[in-house]
Amino acid sequence: AQASQIPAFSGENFLSDGLHIPLLANVGTGEDALKAAAAGAEGVGLLRTEFCFLDRESEPTVEEQITAYGGVLAAFPGKKVVIRTLDAGADKPLPFLTVADEHNPALGVRGYRTDTTSPGVLERQLQAIAMATAAHDADVWVMAPMISTAEEAANFTAMARAAGLATAGVMVEVPSAALTASAILGEADFASLGTNDLTQYTMAADRQLGPLATLNDPWQPAVLQLIKLTADGAFQAQVTTGLPKPVGVCGEAAADPALAVVLVGLGVSTLSMSARALAPVAAVLTTVSLADAQRLAAVALHAKSASAARQAVREQLPILEQLG
Ligand code: PEP
Ligand code: MG
Repeated sequence: AQASQIPAFSGENFLSDGLHIPLLANVGTGEDALKAAAAGAEGVGLLRTEFCFLDRESEPTVEEQITAYGGVLAAFPGKKVVIRTLDAGADKPLPFLTVADEHNPALGVRGYRTDTTSPGVLERQLQAIAMATAAHDADVWVMAPMISTAEEAANFTAMARAAGLATAGVMVEVPSAALTASAILGEADFASLGTNDLTQYTMAADRQLGPLATLNDPWQPAVLQLIKLTADGAFQAQVTTGLPKPVGVCGEAAADPALAVVLVGLGVSTLSMSARALAPVAAVLTTVSLADAQRLAAVALHAKSASAARQAVREQLPILEQLG
């Protein structure tokens, strides 16, 4: 099928019953952000800040950081921008932050954990984010990668608040975080599911190894179960605290139109993806209601394999044939 069969994305995404599911963009630079804004993204669901500094041997100064983050904020005036603090380590090493000589870097000192080995870097980054926020008319949400416990979530949230940032959340990309989502969201304002790492850690399959691609598939029912647990935990935390606790997805799973339907059915309220995925995902989501998405999520959850889940859901979304 031709790409031209996909209607252009108008900028706001609704299910067939009128439910608004914002589609946001994953970006690494200000240039990416401009492209995402042109493609209709309602905001940024994941700014991978480590992408701003991949070539750096030393920690960027606060001023340099303000410039880099400001470039992204300028592309989305007044809109939601989720800034993730440095996720250094494993597949994204940063010379100034990553501990060398680990036997298992994916299980090592990466993401939020680098605060223990390089104290101060995270505080300075949060300061830079707060200053960039103050300089722009942006709705900035800050979040930490590789959070494993409610205690880590509480510590991060306290650091973000101390820097003057109003909205602080965590990525759920480690199975322990999904399993304890209600406690974690008792501490944090929101969660964003990183399905790339959540799949890797749930299936014990390195995300960079081609021969493990069958295991490393976000359609795996075990991964879907953890996504559901996260959404259910968020709902519990919402009831307990009386505060909204939104859960989004910013892993590659959100860019698969059929899986996007399943994610919404599991209780996810925003989806973030690379700019080119916005139009096809929107085209499919407009054809389903929340009740349809919930029914398809149940089908996927109870499938015997990732491929069976994918096939069973795809069969019930005839629009996919037009999209190719
Ligand atoms: C993820 O793990 O799904 C994610 C969005 O983060 P990254 O791919 O940068 O690890
Ligand atoms: Mg990740």
